[in-house]
Amino acid sequence: MLISKSFIPILKNNPSEAKIKSHQLMLRVGMIKQSSAGIYSWLPLGFKVMKKIEKIVREEQNKIGAQEILMPTIQSSEIWKESGRYEDYGEEMLRIKDRQDREMLYGPTNEELVTDIFRSSLKSYKSLPQLLYHIQWKFRDEIRPRFGIMRCREFFMKDAYSFDINDEEAFFSYNKFFLSYLKTFKRLNLTAIPMAADTGPIGGNLSHEFIILAETGESKIFTDKRVFDLNSDGTNLEKKSLEDLRKKYEQFYSVTDEKFNKEEFEKQVSEQNRLITKGIEVGHIFYFGDKYSKPMGASVDLPGGKKDFVKMGSYGIGVSRLVGAIIEAKYDEKNEVMKWPISVAPYDIAIIPMMNKNDNSILDKSNKISLELENNGIETIIDDTDENLSSKIKKMNLIGAPYQIIIGKKTEGEILEFQEVGKEPQKISLKEIIKILKEQKVKN
Ligand code: ATP
Ligand code: MG
Repeated sequence: MLISKSFIPILKNNPSEAKIKSHQLMLRVGMIKQSSAGIYSWLPLGFKVMKKIEKIVREEQNKIGAQEILMPTIQSSEIWKESGRYEDYGEEMLRIKDRQDREMLYGPTNEELVTDIFRSSLKSYKSLPQLLYHIQWKFRDEIRPRFGIMRCREFFMKDAYSFDINDEEAFFSYNKFFLSYLKTFKRLNLTAIPMAADTGPIGGNLSHEFIILAETGESKIFTDKRVFDLNSDGTNLEKKSLEDLRKKYEQFYSVTDEKFNKEEFEKQVSEQNRLITKGIEVGHIFYFGDKYSKPMGASVDLPGGKKDFVKMGSYGIGVSRLVGAIIEAKYDEKNEVMKWPISVAPYDIAIIPMMNKNDNSILDKSNKISLELENNGIETIIDDTDENLSSKIKKMNLIGAPYQIIIGKKTEGEILEFQEVGKEPQKISLKEIIKILKEQKVKN
Protein backbone atom coordinates (compact mmCIF):
# COMPACT_ATOMS: atom_id res chain seq x y z
CA MET A 1 0.00 0.00 0.00
CA LEU A 2 1.26 3.44 -0.95
CA ILE A 3 0.68 6.07 1.73
CA SER A 4 -0.24 8.64 -0.90
CA LYS A 5 -3.15 6.47 -2.01
CA SER A 6 -4.21 5.23 1.40
CA PHE A 7 -6.97 6.60 3.59
CA ILE A 8 -4.89 7.21 6.69
CA PRO A 9 -5.74 10.77 7.76
CA ILE A 10 -2.87 11.53 10.15
CA LEU A 11 -3.05 14.60 12.40
CA LYS A 12 0.05 16.68 13.19
CA ASN A 13 -0.72 16.88 16.90
CA ASN A 14 -2.58 14.96 19.55
CA PRO A 15 -6.30 15.78 19.50
CA SER A 16 -7.11 17.71 22.67
CA GLU A 17 -10.41 15.91 23.36
CA ALA A 18 -8.70 12.56 23.94
CA LYS A 19 -7.82 11.85 27.57
CA ILE A 20 -6.10 8.46 27.31
CA LYS A 21 -3.36 7.30 24.97
CA SER A 22 -5.39 4.77 22.99
CA HIS A 23 -8.00 7.38 22.16
CA GLN A 24 -5.24 9.88 21.26
CA LEU A 25 -3.45 7.50 18.93
CA MET A 26 -6.62 6.20 17.29
CA LEU A 27 -7.73 9.73 16.39
CA ARG A 28 -4.19 10.85 15.56
CA VAL A 29 -3.62 8.16 12.92
CA GLY A 30 -7.22 8.10 11.75
CA MET A 31 -8.21 4.63 12.90
CA ILE A 32 -11.69 5.80 13.86
CA LYS A 33 -13.91 8.79 13.40
CA GLN A 34 -16.62 9.74 15.84
CA SER A 35 -20.04 9.98 14.22
CA SER A 36 -21.97 10.90 17.38
CA ALA A 37 -21.43 10.49 21.13
CA GLY A 38 -20.06 6.99 21.75
CA ILE A 39 -20.60 5.92 18.12
CA TYR A 40 -17.71 5.56 15.71
CA SER A 41 -16.89 4.73 12.12
CA TRP A 42 -13.90 2.47 11.68
CA LEU A 43 -11.46 3.74 9.05
CA PRO A 44 -9.09 1.40 7.15
CA LEU A 45 -6.24 1.29 9.66
CA GLY A 46 -8.48 0.70 12.68
CA PHE A 47 -10.71 -1.72 10.81
CA LYS A 48 -7.75 -3.82 9.68
CA VAL A 49 -6.57 -4.24 13.28
CA MET A 50 -10.05 -5.05 14.57
CA LYS A 51 -10.59 -7.66 11.82
CA LYS A 52 -7.33 -9.38 12.75
CA ILE A 53 -8.34 -9.47 16.40
CA GLU A 54 -11.72 -10.88 15.37
CA LYS A 55 -10.01 -13.61 13.37
CA ILE A 56 -7.91 -14.74 16.34
CA VAL A 57 -10.94 -14.68 18.63
CA ARG A 58 -12.85 -16.78 16.09
CA GLU A 59 -10.05 -19.33 15.66
CA GLU A 60 -9.77 -19.86 19.40
CA GLN A 61 -13.55 -20.28 19.74
CA ASN A 62 -13.55 -22.86 16.97
CA LYS A 63 -10.71 -24.76 18.65
CA ILE A 64 -12.86 -25.55 21.69
CA GLY A 65 -15.70 -26.74 19.47
CA ALA A 66 -17.87 -23.64 19.59
CA GLN A 67 -20.02 -23.13 16.49
CA GLU A 68 -20.43 -19.72 14.91
CA ILE A 69 -23.85 -18.25 14.22
CA LEU A 70 -25.00 -14.70 13.50
CA MET A 71 -27.92 -13.23 15.36
CA PRO A 72 -29.44 -9.88 14.37
CA THR A 73 -28.67 -6.57 16.08
CA ILE A 74 -32.38 -5.73 16.40
CA GLN A 75 -34.43 -7.91 18.72
CA SER A 76 -38.07 -8.16 19.66
CA SER A 77 -39.04 -7.12 23.21
CA GLU A 78 -41.16 -10.28 23.60
CA ILE A 79 -38.34 -12.60 24.64
CA TRP A 80 -36.99 -10.01 27.07
CA LYS A 81 -40.40 -9.85 28.70
CA GLU A 82 -40.31 -13.63 29.05
CA SER A 83 -36.98 -13.55 30.88
CA GLY A 84 -38.04 -10.58 32.97
CA ARG A 85 -35.15 -8.41 31.84
CA TYR A 86 -37.10 -5.96 29.68
CA GLU A 87 -37.82 -3.79 32.71
CA ASP A 88 -34.68 -4.68 34.68
CA TYR A 89 -32.19 -3.66 32.00
CA GLY A 90 -33.14 -0.01 32.36
CA GLU A 91 -31.92 2.97 30.39
CA GLU A 92 -28.88 1.26 28.89
CA MET A 93 -31.21 -0.53 26.50
CA LEU A 94 -32.03 1.37 23.34
CA ARG A 95 -35.73 0.80 22.71
CA ILE A 96 -37.32 1.33 19.32
CA LYS A 97 -40.84 1.04 17.87
CA ASP A 98 -41.38 -0.25 14.35
CA ARG A 99 -44.15 0.99 11.99
CA GLN A 100 -46.61 -1.59 13.39
CA ASP A 101 -45.98 -0.10 16.82
CA ARG A 102 -44.13 -3.23 17.95
CA GLU A 103 -41.54 -2.78 20.67
CA MET A 104 -38.08 -3.63 19.42
CA LEU A 105 -34.62 -3.03 20.83
CA TYR A 106 -31.01 -2.86 19.73
CA GLY A 107 -29.41 -5.89 21.42
CA PRO A 108 -27.08 -5.10 24.34
CA THR A 109 -26.41 -8.86 24.75
CA ASN A 110 -28.04 -12.07 23.50
CA GLU A 111 -28.95 -14.51 26.28
CA GLU A 112 -32.67 -14.33 25.46
CA LEU A 113 -32.30 -14.60 21.70
CA VAL A 114 -29.95 -17.57 21.84
CA THR A 115 -32.18 -19.33 24.40
CA ASP A 116 -35.09 -18.86 22.02
CA ILE A 117 -33.05 -20.35 19.18
CA PHE A 118 -32.04 -23.30 21.35
CA ARG A 119 -35.53 -24.12 22.65
CA SER A 120 -37.09 -24.07 19.20
CA SER A 121 -34.84 -26.83 17.88
CA LEU A 122 -33.15 -28.94 20.54
CA LYS A 123 -35.15 -31.14 22.87
CA SER A 124 -32.87 -33.96 23.99
CA TYR A 125 -29.86 -34.31 26.27
CA LYS A 126 -28.25 -36.22 23.38
CA SER A 127 -27.64 -32.91 21.58
CA LEU A 128 -25.64 -31.53 24.51
CA PRO A 129 -23.28 -29.87 25.05
CA GLN A 130 -23.89 -27.00 22.63
CA LEU A 131 -21.49 -24.07 22.41
CA LEU A 132 -22.72 -21.29 20.14
CA TYR A 133 -21.14 -17.91 19.52
CA HIS A 134 -21.44 -14.88 17.32
CA ILE A 135 -19.42 -11.75 16.70
CA GLN A 136 -21.78 -8.86 16.31
CA TRP A 137 -22.38 -5.19 17.11
CA LYS A 138 -24.01 -4.40 20.44
CA PHE A 139 -25.61 -1.20 21.64
CA ARG A 140 -25.65 -0.02 25.24
CA ASP A 141 -26.77 3.50 25.93
CA GLU A 142 -23.92 4.14 28.38
CA ILE A 143 -24.60 7.14 30.57
CA ARG A 144 -21.09 8.53 30.06
CA PRO A 145 -19.44 7.18 26.91
CA ARG A 146 -15.71 7.95 27.15
CA PHE A 147 -12.18 7.07 26.14
CA GLY A 148 -13.12 6.56 22.48
CA ILE A 149 -13.98 2.98 21.65
CA MET A 150 -13.07 1.78 25.16
CA ARG A 151 -16.43 2.73 26.60
CA CYS A 152 -18.69 3.57 23.75
CA ARG A 153 -22.33 2.94 22.96
CA GLU A 154 -22.03 0.82 19.83
CA PHE A 155 -19.30 -1.81 20.09
CA PHE A 156 -18.22 -5.08 18.54
CA MET A 157 -18.40 -8.09 20.83
CA LYS A 158 -17.89 -11.82 20.65
CA ASP A 159 -20.50 -13.48 22.80
CA ALA A 160 -20.77 -17.20 23.28
CA TYR A 161 -23.36 -19.32 25.07
CA SER A 162 -23.12 -22.83 26.49
CA PHE A 163 -25.94 -25.32 27.04
CA ASP A 164 -25.42 -28.37 29.25
CA ILE A 165 -27.30 -31.13 30.98
CA ASN A 166 -26.09 -30.45 34.55
CA ASP A 167 -23.74 -28.32 36.65
CA GLU A 168 -20.77 -30.63 36.24
CA GLU A 169 -20.94 -30.57 32.45
CA ALA A 170 -21.63 -26.82 32.51
CA PHE A 171 -18.45 -26.21 34.51
CA PHE A 172 -16.59 -28.24 31.90
CA SER A 173 -17.92 -25.88 29.21
CA TYR A 174 -17.05 -22.88 31.39
CA ASN A 175 -13.50 -24.14 31.76
CA LYS A 176 -13.15 -24.61 28.00
CA PHE A 177 -13.88 -20.91 27.55
CA PHE A 178 -11.54 -20.11 30.43
CA LEU A 179 -8.72 -21.81 28.51
CA SER A 180 -9.72 -20.34 25.17
CA TYR A 181 -9.65 -16.83 26.67
CA LEU A 182 -6.14 -17.30 28.05
CA LYS A 183 -5.00 -18.49 24.64
CA THR A 184 -6.76 -15.70 22.75
CA PHE A 185 -5.21 -12.92 24.84
CA LYS A 186 -1.79 -14.54 24.68
CA ARG A 187 -1.94 -14.53 20.86
CA LEU A 188 -2.74 -10.83 21.10
CA ASN A 189 0.44 -10.44 23.15
CA LEU A 190 -1.52 -9.40 26.23
CA THR A 191 -1.32 -10.70 29.77
CA ALA A 192 -4.95 -10.95 30.80
CA ILE A 193 -5.59 -12.18 34.33
CA PRO A 194 -8.87 -13.95 35.16
CA MET A 195 -10.33 -12.34 38.27
CA ALA A 196 -13.27 -13.42 40.37
CA ALA A 197 -16.10 -11.06 39.50
CA ASP A 198 -19.64 -10.09 40.27
CA THR A 199 -22.25 -11.28 37.84
CA GLY A 200 -24.13 -7.96 37.48
CA PRO A 201 -27.26 -7.78 35.30
CA ILE A 202 -26.41 -11.07 33.55
CA GLY A 203 -26.94 -12.81 36.91
CA GLY A 204 -25.63 -16.16 38.17
CA ASN A 205 -23.07 -17.57 40.53
CA LEU A 206 -19.69 -18.16 38.90
CA SER A 207 -17.88 -15.47 36.98
CA HIS A 208 -14.44 -14.24 35.94
CA GLU A 209 -13.39 -10.99 34.36
CA PHE A 210 -10.25 -11.06 32.22
CA ILE A 211 -8.28 -7.94 32.97
CA ILE A 212 -5.13 -6.46 31.51
CA LEU A 213 -3.12 -4.07 33.63
CA ALA A 214 -3.27 -0.41 32.59
CA GLU A 215 -3.09 2.80 34.56
CA THR A 216 -5.97 4.16 32.51
CA GLY A 217 -8.23 1.18 33.15
CA GLU A 218 -11.59 1.62 34.82
CA SER A 219 -11.46 -1.52 36.97
CA LYS A 220 -9.68 -1.38 40.30
CA ILE A 221 -7.96 -4.70 40.99
CA PHE A 222 -6.42 -6.44 43.97
CA THR A 223 -4.16 -9.29 43.14
CA ASP A 224 -1.35 -11.60 44.13
CA LYS A 225 1.63 -10.86 41.89
CA ARG A 226 2.44 -14.55 41.50
CA VAL A 227 -0.58 -14.94 39.23
CA PHE A 228 1.47 -13.25 36.48
CA ASP A 229 3.87 -16.20 36.36
CA LEU A 230 1.13 -18.65 35.41
CA ASN A 231 0.31 -19.77 31.90
CA SER A 232 -1.91 -22.19 30.03
CA ASP A 233 0.83 -24.10 28.22
CA GLY A 234 0.27 -27.79 27.85
CA THR A 235 -3.37 -27.70 28.84
CA ASN A 236 -5.59 -29.89 26.72
CA LEU A 237 -9.38 -30.07 26.48
CA GLU A 238 -9.76 -32.91 29.02
CA LYS A 239 -12.15 -32.26 31.88
CA LYS A 240 -9.50 -32.80 34.54
CA SER A 241 -6.75 -30.66 33.03
CA LEU A 242 -9.17 -27.80 32.46
CA GLU A 243 -10.31 -28.01 36.05
CA ASP A 244 -6.70 -27.97 37.20
CA LEU A 245 -6.00 -24.94 35.05
CA ARG A 246 -8.79 -22.92 36.66
CA LYS A 247 -7.70 -24.05 40.13
CA LYS A 248 -4.13 -23.02 39.34
CA TYR A 249 -5.36 -19.47 38.76
CA GLU A 250 -7.88 -19.47 41.57
CA GLN A 251 -5.28 -20.36 44.19
CA PHE A 252 -4.05 -16.75 44.00
CA TYR A 253 -6.20 -13.91 45.27
CA SER A 254 -7.30 -11.82 42.28
CA VAL A 255 -10.46 -9.76 42.35
CA THR A 256 -11.98 -6.53 41.09
CA ASP A 257 -13.21 -3.95 43.60
CA GLU A 258 -16.81 -5.28 43.71
CA LYS A 259 -15.50 -8.50 45.23
CA PHE A 260 -12.70 -6.98 47.28
CA ASN A 261 -12.45 -7.87 50.93
CA LYS A 262 -9.55 -6.23 52.77
CA GLU A 263 -9.32 -8.84 55.49
CA GLU A 264 -9.21 -11.77 53.05
CA PHE A 265 -6.70 -10.00 50.83
CA GLU A 266 -4.32 -9.34 53.69
CA LYS A 267 -4.73 -12.84 55.08
CA GLN A 268 -4.14 -14.61 51.77
CA VAL A 269 -1.44 -12.44 50.21
CA SER A 270 1.86 -11.60 51.85
CA GLU A 271 2.81 -7.95 51.76
CA GLN A 272 5.49 -8.27 49.11
CA ASN A 273 3.08 -10.09 46.75
CA ARG A 274 0.22 -7.61 47.02
CA LEU A 275 -0.60 -5.59 43.95
CA ILE A 276 -3.33 -2.95 43.94
CA THR A 277 -3.69 -1.30 40.58
CA LYS A 278 -6.00 -0.65 37.67
CA GLY A 279 -6.94 -2.65 34.64
CA ILE A 280 -9.09 -2.90 31.55
CA GLU A 281 -11.76 -5.57 31.31
CA VAL A 282 -11.38 -7.30 27.94
CA GLY A 283 -13.51 -10.36 28.60
CA HIS A 284 -16.11 -11.63 31.03
CA ILE A 285 -17.47 -15.14 31.53
CA PHE A 286 -20.50 -16.21 33.55
CA TYR A 287 -22.21 -19.37 34.67
CA PHE A 288 -25.86 -18.84 35.55
CA GLY A 289 -27.55 -22.26 35.38
CA ASP A 290 -31.25 -22.01 34.52
CA LYS A 291 -31.64 -18.26 35.00
CA TYR A 292 -32.91 -17.88 31.42
CA SER A 293 -33.84 -21.44 30.46
CA LYS A 294 -36.38 -21.71 33.30
CA PRO A 295 -38.51 -18.60 32.64
CA MET A 296 -38.19 -19.18 28.89
CA GLY A 297 -38.96 -22.90 29.07
CA ALA A 298 -35.79 -24.22 27.42
CA SER A 299 -35.69 -27.82 28.63
CA VAL A 300 -34.37 -31.14 27.37
CA ASP A 301 -35.47 -34.76 27.84
CA LEU A 302 -33.21 -36.61 30.26
CA PRO A 303 -32.18 -40.30 29.94
CA GLY A 304 -34.82 -41.58 32.45
CA GLY A 305 -37.71 -39.83 30.71
CA LYS A 306 -37.75 -36.74 32.95
CA LYS A 307 -37.19 -33.21 31.68
CA ASP A 308 -34.92 -30.50 33.03
CA PHE A 309 -34.05 -26.92 32.19
CA VAL A 310 -30.81 -26.64 30.32
CA LYS A 311 -27.85 -25.16 32.23
CA MET A 312 -26.33 -22.12 30.58
CA GLY A 313 -23.30 -19.86 30.67
CA SER A 314 -22.29 -16.82 28.62
CA TYR A 315 -18.88 -15.61 27.54
CA GLY A 316 -18.03 -12.16 26.16
CA ILE A 317 -14.94 -10.61 24.62
CA GLY A 318 -14.81 -6.91 23.77
CA VAL A 319 -13.36 -7.21 20.27
CA SER A 320 -13.47 -3.47 19.53
CA ARG A 321 -12.31 -2.56 23.06
CA LEU A 322 -9.29 -4.81 22.52
CA VAL A 323 -7.96 -2.47 19.83
CA GLY A 324 -7.72 0.24 22.48
CA ALA A 325 -6.49 -2.17 25.14
CA ILE A 326 -3.57 -3.27 22.97
CA ILE A 327 -2.62 0.36 22.39
CA GLU A 328 -2.80 1.07 26.14
CA ALA A 329 -0.44 -1.86 26.68
CA LYS A 330 2.00 -1.23 23.82
CA TYR A 331 2.07 2.47 22.92
CA ASP A 332 5.11 4.44 24.07
CA GLU A 333 3.38 7.77 24.29
CA LYS A 334 6.48 9.76 25.29
CA ASN A 335 8.44 8.81 22.18
CA GLU A 336 5.29 8.48 20.08
CA VAL A 337 6.11 4.93 19.05
CA MET A 338 3.43 2.28 18.57
CA LYS A 339 4.50 -1.28 17.95
CA TRP A 340 1.58 -3.57 17.14
CA PRO A 341 2.01 -7.26 17.91
CA ILE A 342 2.60 -8.88 14.53
CA SER A 343 -0.54 -11.00 14.98
CA VAL A 344 -2.76 -7.90 14.61
CA ALA A 345 -0.51 -5.26 13.02
CA PRO A 346 -2.24 -3.28 10.24
CA TYR A 347 0.98 -3.71 8.22
CA ASP A 348 3.83 -6.06 8.97
CA ILE A 349 6.57 -3.82 7.62
CA ALA A 350 7.00 -0.17 6.67
CA ILE A 351 9.15 0.68 3.66
CA ILE A 352 10.66 4.14 3.91
CA PRO A 353 12.31 5.37 0.71
CA MET A 354 14.59 8.41 0.98
CA MET A 355 13.09 10.01 -2.10
CA ASN A 356 14.93 12.11 -4.60
CA LYS A 357 12.89 14.36 -6.90
CA ASN A 358 15.04 13.76 -9.96
CA ASP A 359 15.50 10.08 -9.45
CA ASN A 360 12.69 7.53 -9.48
CA SER A 361 14.98 4.57 -8.93
CA ILE A 362 14.59 4.58 -5.13
CA LEU A 363 10.81 4.42 -5.34
CA ASP A 364 11.08 1.77 -8.06
CA LYS A 365 13.31 -0.29 -5.85
CA SER A 366 10.90 0.14 -2.93
CA ASN A 367 8.00 -1.01 -5.06
CA LYS A 368 9.91 -4.09 -6.14
CA ILE A 369 10.81 -4.97 -2.56
CA SER A 370 7.21 -4.44 -1.50
CA LEU A 371 5.96 -6.76 -4.25
CA GLU A 372 8.38 -9.47 -3.23
CA LEU A 373 7.30 -9.16 0.42
CA GLU A 374 3.60 -9.16 -0.47
CA ASN A 375 4.12 -12.27 -2.60
CA ASN A 376 5.39 -13.91 0.56
CA GLY A 377 2.29 -12.98 2.53
CA ILE A 378 3.89 -9.99 4.26
CA GLU A 379 1.81 -6.81 4.32
CA THR A 380 3.70 -3.63 3.48
CA ILE A 381 3.14 0.09 3.51
CA ILE A 382 5.39 2.42 1.52
CA ASP A 383 5.80 6.10 2.31
CA ASP A 384 6.01 7.48 -1.22
CA THR A 385 5.56 11.13 -0.18
CA ASP A 386 8.23 13.82 -0.59
CA GLU A 387 8.61 14.40 3.14
CA ASN A 388 12.01 14.14 4.76
CA LEU A 389 13.29 10.97 6.37
CA SER A 390 12.70 11.98 9.97
CA SER A 391 9.07 12.94 9.43
CA LYS A 392 8.51 9.70 7.51
CA ILE A 393 9.93 7.68 10.38
CA LYS A 394 7.77 9.60 12.85
CA LYS A 395 4.68 8.83 10.80
CA MET A 396 5.51 5.14 10.50
CA ASN A 397 6.21 4.97 14.23
CA LEU A 398 2.63 6.11 14.82
CA ILE A 399 1.10 3.73 12.28
CA GLY A 400 2.91 1.00 14.15
CA ALA A 401 4.17 -1.64 11.71
CA PRO A 402 6.55 -3.67 13.92
CA TYR A 403 9.34 -3.64 11.28
CA GLN A 404 10.83 -0.98 9.02
CA ILE A 405 13.17 -0.89 6.02
CA ILE A 406 14.91 2.31 4.96
CA ILE A 407 15.89 2.54 1.32
CA GLY A 408 18.33 5.20 0.20
CA LYS A 409 20.67 6.02 -2.64
CA LYS A 410 23.37 3.97 -1.01
CA THR A 411 21.18 0.87 -0.79
CA GLU A 412 22.93 -1.37 -3.22
CA GLY A 413 22.12 -4.85 -4.38
CA GLU A 414 20.36 -7.08 -1.93
CA ILE A 415 21.51 -5.70 1.40
CA LEU A 416 18.91 -3.53 3.17
CA GLU A 417 18.72 -1.41 6.31
CA PHE A 418 16.21 -3.30 8.40
CA GLN A 419 14.94 -2.63 11.88
CA GLU A 420 12.56 -4.18 14.32
CA VAL A 421 10.99 -1.16 16.00
CA GLY A 422 12.73 -0.51 19.32
CA LYS A 423 15.77 -2.63 18.44
CA GLU A 424 19.11 -1.95 16.73
CA PRO A 425 19.04 -1.55 12.93
CA GLN A 426 20.80 -4.28 10.95
CA LYS A 427 22.00 -4.67 7.38
CA ILE A 428 20.61 -7.89 5.93
CA SER A 429 19.26 -9.27 2.68
CA LEU A 430 15.63 -9.25 1.61
CA LYS A 431 15.67 -13.04 1.76
CA GLU A 432 16.64 -12.94 5.44
CA ILE A 433 13.99 -10.30 6.14
CA ILE A 434 11.34 -12.50 4.58
CA LYS A 435 12.53 -15.42 6.66
CA ILE A 436 12.41 -13.44 9.93
CA LEU A 437 8.93 -12.08 9.25
CA LYS A 438 7.51 -15.39 8.12
CA GLU A 439 8.81 -17.03 11.29
CA GLN A 440 7.30 -14.32 13.46
CA LYS A 441 3.96 -14.57 11.68
CA VAL A 442 3.80 -18.33 12.09
CA LYS A 443 4.76 -18.13 15.76
CA ASN A 444 2.00 -15.65 16.48
P1 ATP B 1 -18.04 -3.06 31.86
O1 ATP B 1 -17.88 -3.61 33.25
O2 ATP B 1 -16.74 -2.57 31.25
O3 ATP B 1 -19.15 -2.08 31.73
P2 ATP B 1 -19.72 -5.23 31.24
O4 ATP B 1 -19.44 -6.05 32.42
O5 ATP B 1 -20.96 -4.48 31.16
O6 ATP B 1 -18.47 -4.26 30.96
P3 ATP B 1 -20.04 -7.56 29.55
O7 ATP B 1 -21.51 -7.56 29.49
O8 ATP B 1 -19.35 -8.54 30.38
O9 ATP B 1 -19.54 -6.09 29.93
O10 ATP B 1 -19.47 -7.52 28.04
C1 ATP B 1 -18.40 -8.29 27.57
C2 ATP B 1 -17.24 -7.43 27.12
O11 ATP B 1 -17.66 -6.42 26.20
C3 ATP B 1 -16.58 -6.67 28.24
O12 ATP B 1 -15.64 -7.49 28.90
C4 ATP B 1 -15.92 -5.52 27.50
O13 ATP B 1 -14.65 -5.94 27.00
C5 ATP B 1 -16.84 -5.27 26.34
N1 ATP B 1 -17.68 -4.08 26.60
C6 ATP B 1 -18.71 -3.98 27.48
N2 ATP B 1 -19.24 -2.74 27.46
C7 ATP B 1 -18.54 -2.04 26.54
C8 ATP B 1 -18.61 -0.69 26.05
N3 ATP B 1 -19.52 0.17 26.51
N4 ATP B 1 -17.72 -0.30 25.10
C9 ATP B 1 -16.81 -1.16 24.62
N5 ATP B 1 -16.69 -2.45 25.04
C10 ATP B 1 -17.54 -2.90 25.98
MG1 MG C 1 -18.28 -7.22 32.96
